[in-house]
Amino acid sequence: MRVSIAAGRRFGAPVTPSGRATTAPRAARTLLEGFVVRTESGHHRVLVDGRVIDCRAPKRLLRAERGERTATTAVVIGDRVRLHELDDGRGVIEELLPRDNELVRGSAGGGRFLDVIAANLDLLVAVHSIQEPEFNAARLDRFVLIAEAAEIPALVCLNKVDLASAGQADAAAAPYRAAGYPVICTSATAEQGITDLREVLNGKVSALVGPSGVGKSTLLNRVQPGLRLRTGEISEATGKGRHTTTTAELLALDAGGWVADTPGLRELAIREVELEDLGWLFPEFRPLLPACRFTDCSHRDDVGCAIRAAVETGAISAERYESYQHVYAQIEERNRY
Ligand code: GDP
Ligand code: ZN
Repeated sequence: MRVSIAAGRRFGAPVTPSGRATTAPRAARTLLEGFVVRTESGHHRVLVDGRVIDCRAPKRLLRAERGERTATTAVVIGDRVRLHELDDGRGVIEELLPRDNELVRGSAGGGRFLDVIAANLDLLVAVHSIQEPEFNAARLDRFVLIAEAAEIPALVCLNKVDLASAGQADAAAAPYRAAGYPVICTSATAEQGITDLREVLNGKVSALVGPSGVGKSTLLNRVQPGLRLRTGEISEATGKGRHTTTTAELLALDAGGWVADTPGLRELAIREVELEDLGWLFPEFRPLLPACRFTDCSHRDDVGCAIRAAVETGAISAERYESYQHVYAQIEERNRY
């Protein structure tokens, strides 16, 4: 007989989320702890002590864990979960463990709703090309800012250095190095800097993020040829199709570590950043913030602003400051609704 979860709760009978009553009391059942490496329309692949268990997640998780926020799935790649193994070898996720961080994108419905696409990342690699598409500090800063807002360590990867002079690459890297970010320069096609990239990914759960066409898939294919990620126009064409199936996967790296493969990594959202916090998301601004004359300084007027003064002397890069102003305006716009 199938018993609804609600009925089970009301009458105190222990019931699994699948609706089947169990004889053992809920607390006494041993739950396995695992790490979610793949999700696809409600099916989750969870790594438990080196083996993979296919799991379902009950709807109640979606409600309980996501609250009022809309989400297409309660469980995302990188999640640490507790699960109950069924007799047929499959599993049911019983509990979502607290997340260290979340990577979000604007949900398909637009507006202020956000979709979590990965959790518990150790590293975000913000990839941008020096040429084709042309280097655009504002676009790169957006991804770096997302990492800061999500409290995920960031690294900048400047790709396609084969298409530019060393001077161009250094000039693009300088503001990020000054801000304290590690920067690696790579060429996926000329096999440059690939060892460095492999090294930084080693042992971590990470994601390469950045605009389309900067070379993320090509880089990962160089890091580990066996991954065979789709690149170029093909991935553009099929990216949409994969998007609708909401497949997300963490790919295992031979050297150790996991790297995320999801089309959502191009359209990340900056979540819940308030105007007064924005300056703190620029690491090179932080030491100067207490020096502004007014504690609520928006760093947009000269009067007593330590940030503006530092931009004047070149201590803070003009491009980074421009990005600050740009995002400031975006948040103001958002707050209007
Ligand atoms: P993604 O959208 O960021 O995953 O970008 P892709 O990996 O699909 O690469 C987009 C295009 O850039 C492809 O045609 C790649 O061959 C090319 N590409 C990638 N890396 C490099 C590089 O280092 N140098 C050059 N010249 N082209 C590259
Ligand atoms: Zn200021």
